[in-house]
Amino acid sequence: MTAEIISGTEIRKAILAEVKEEVDQMKEKHGKVPGLVTILVGSSPASISYVTLKVKTAISLGFHEIQDDQPEDISEEDLLGLIDKYNNDPDIHGILVQLPLPKHIDDKKVLVAIDPDKDVDAFHPVNVGRLMIGGDEAKFYPCTPAGIQEMIIRSGTETSGAEVVVVGRSNIVGKPIAMMMAQKGVGANSTVTIVHTRTKDLASHCKRADILIVAAGVPGLVKPEWIKPGSTVIDVGVNRIGMNEKTGKAILSGDVDFNAAKEIAGAITPVPGGVGPMTIAMLMKNTLKSAQYALK
Ligand code: NAD
Repeated sequence: MTAEIISGTEIRKAILAEVKEEVDQMKEKHGKVPGLVTILVGSSPASISYVTLKVKTAISLGFHEIQDDQPEDISEEDLLGLIDKYNNDPDIHGILVQLPLPKHIDDKKVLVAIDPDKDVDAFHPVNVGRLMIGGDEAKFYPCTPAGIQEMIIRSGTETSGAEVVVVGRSNIVGKPIAMMMAQKGVGANSTVTIVHTRTKDLASHCKRADILIVAAGVPGLVKPEWIKPGSTVIDVGVNRIGMNEKTGKAILSGDVDFNAAKEIAGAITPVPGGVGPMTIAMLMKNTLKSAQYALK
C-alpha cells in the first residue's frame, strides 16, 4: 500500500488562510493587526531572499510589517538599541533578526535582548524553558518543530501513547520536537526516544517507531527496512545532492529514501514540499498568537 503523502505546501496554505481569517476578525473587533519587524543586517543574497519571503507573507496576511534594513557595519550597541525600541513598541508583536549576523556582533547577545514575549522564533532561553514546562507556559514553539507537530496532527496520526523516535538532537529541531511530543496535550502524550551519532543501534530504535522524525542532515540515512509498516515518517532533512543542469537549481533530498519508504509507511512527508514550507506558516501563526496575548 502506498503511504498518504503529507504535503507541507497544502498544509501551509490552509494555515495561512486560517491566520488571515483571524487577522481580519482582530481588525474588525479590536481595530488592531499583528505587527512584525524583520531586521536584516547587511546584504547577503540568501538572507535577503529569506527576509523578502517573510515580509511578503506577512503583508499578504494583513500584518503591520516593518522591514528594517541596517548596514553591515552597524555597531552591536546600535543594533541592541534598535531591538530595545521595538521591544517597547506596542504595535510590534514579533521581532525577527535574520541570522547570520556580521562577525563583530555577538548573535547570542542580540537574541537574548529580544523581549521573550515578542520572540516569535522562540529561540530565547526563556522560551526554551517555557517549552520544557509545557502547557499554558509555552507561548510559542520554535517554528520548524511546531510545523512538524502540526503536520502530524493534520495527518490524523494518533500521538497519545505512540512510540516516537527522533533522529537528531539539535537545539532547533531534535531536542524541542522530542520535548513537545512528550508533553501532555493535543498532538503529544507520546513515548519519546532521541537517537543521535553515539546511539549504538539506530536501526532497532527506528524499527519500533510509530512516528519517526528524522532531522540528521544525512541523505539516505534511514533505510526502508528500518520503517515500521503503517507508521508516520516526518523527514526534516534538506540535503543538496546535485544540480539540475537545465534549471540551474539544486536537487534536494531528505534523510529518508522517499520512494522506497512510501511503500511501507502509512503517511510520509516529501522533500521538497514537506516540512520546509511549514516553517514560515508557523512564524506567522506565532506572530498572530503574540498579538492575541497582547490583547488579553
Ligand atoms: P544539526 O546538524 O544541528 O543536527 C543534526 C543531528 O543529527 C545531530 O544531533 C546529530 O547527532 C544527528 N546525526 C547526524 N548524523 C547522524 C547519524 N549518522 N546517525 C544518527 N544521528 C545523526 O542539524 P539540524 O539543524 O537539526 O538540521 C537537520 C536537518 O534538517 C538538516 O538537513 C537541515 O537542513 C534540516 N532542516 C530543515 C528545516 C526546514 O525544513 N524548515 C529546518 C531546520 C533544519
